[in-house]
Amino acid sequence: MQLPHKHSATGTTIFTVMSALAAKYNAINLSQGFPDFPIDERLAALLHEAAAGNYNQYAPMAGLPMLREAIANDFKRRYDLQLDADKEITITPGATYGIYTAFTSFLQPGDEVIVLEPAYDSYIPNIEMNGAKAVCVPLTAPMFSVDWNKVKDAITPKTRAIIINTPHNPAGSVWSAADWQQLADLVRDTEMLIISDEVYEQLIFDGRKHYSVLEHDELRQRSFAIFSFGKVFNNTGWKMGYVIAPPLLTDAFRHIHQFIAFSINTPAQYALAQYLQQDSLPKVGALMQQKRDYFLQLLQELPFTLHHKTAGSYFQIAGYENISGLPDLEFAQWLTKEYGVATIPLSPFYCDKKDDRMIRFCFAKKESTLEAAVERMRRLNTVSKTQF
Ligand code: PMP
Ligand code: GLN
Repeated sequence: MQLPHKHSATGTTIFTVMSALAAKYNAINLSQGFPDFPIDERLAALLHEAAAGNYNQYAPMAGLPMLREAIANDFKRRYDLQLDADKEITITPGATYGIYTAFTSFLQPGDEVIVLEPAYDSYIPNIEMNGAKAVCVPLTAPMFSVDWNKVKDAITPKTRAIIINTPHNPAGSVWSAADWQQLADLVRDTEMLIISDEVYEQLIFDGRKHYSVLEHDELRQRSFAIFSFGKVFNNTGWKMGYVIAPPLLTDAFRHIHQFIAFSINTPAQYALAQYLQQDSLPKVGALMQQKRDYFLQLLQELPFTLHHKTAGSYFQIAGYENISGLPDLEFAQWLTKEYGVATIPLSPFYCDKKDDRMIRFCFAKKESTLEAAVERMRRLNTVSKTQF
């Protein structure tokens, strides 16, 4: 029996492939993005409290009111933004789900969506699962900035949306207020909607500010802003996130959401709500900046090429042209098998699988993990390029 393909991606997502390879070869896993240190024990205790108490049945479809209120208060505190917890915030099982459901709430077959590449690997399949077409526009290396003329040229009468990601996975670049203004000028006279993937909003370094689409009054009216608790509380396995959108878009989102997930893990919602009500958010940005700096310092001893220092997210990309001439996927596999360090090749983040001979490291790890990984790669110094 042959089943139809619902999107053009072939095989299994690179994050699963590389994490499985890491496990198989007992490699240190700097590939898939997740922290390797424990969560705040107060949050763990709150999860226990929820399960031991009476928080084990279905939550309301939009999410526990106390969690949505806590998010609204958090946005008031951090961004001075007024959000309507009932009409503008929906709790989701992670950001990936939020992105898919946002697309599904408005895309029609034949629509086009602009994707800035490199791009997180779920975007294009999510667009295609809705019968729509991804139109890829490359970001400009080495800083992975937006070429606004290219974006403008990509807009056609069929363009229904654009998906933005800042801070950016995998490049670690961040948008300025001027970028949002450029986007506003481009979409003003169109029907385009915006999916703004801001999962790394709090992982932003060197005193930079994260500009949320929600802070741009004009753009906010046509945007779904996507967030993930996993990146803030270092609990990616909880798969908890939320989507903020104006009432009209939130209605469309829930219209779909009610028949896919319906509602989200109640004990986890309770724990996050209680935590947010009692405490200010963990200082995850400062922590990850320290890890970035430490990792970059360690990396200096290795022959990788760093074209820029990551400004946000927990990823650093690096060139390996001084080490090997292998294509990036093969290089990442070789590094895992021979050196015991798993990374992510960049080509899966491109529409045409363009290979710039770069890999992505995740530095959201204990210092001892980063040290051990660099120690394992120290032998790379002696590997001659001509061996490949
Ligand atoms: N968007 C980007 C850019 C990501 O890197 C991730 C990483 N997981 C997600 C969305 C998905 O987040 P979640 O785990 O909450 O689904
Ligand atoms: N966002 C993480 C990454 O980019 C994990 C993604 C995943 O496993 N699907 O590595």
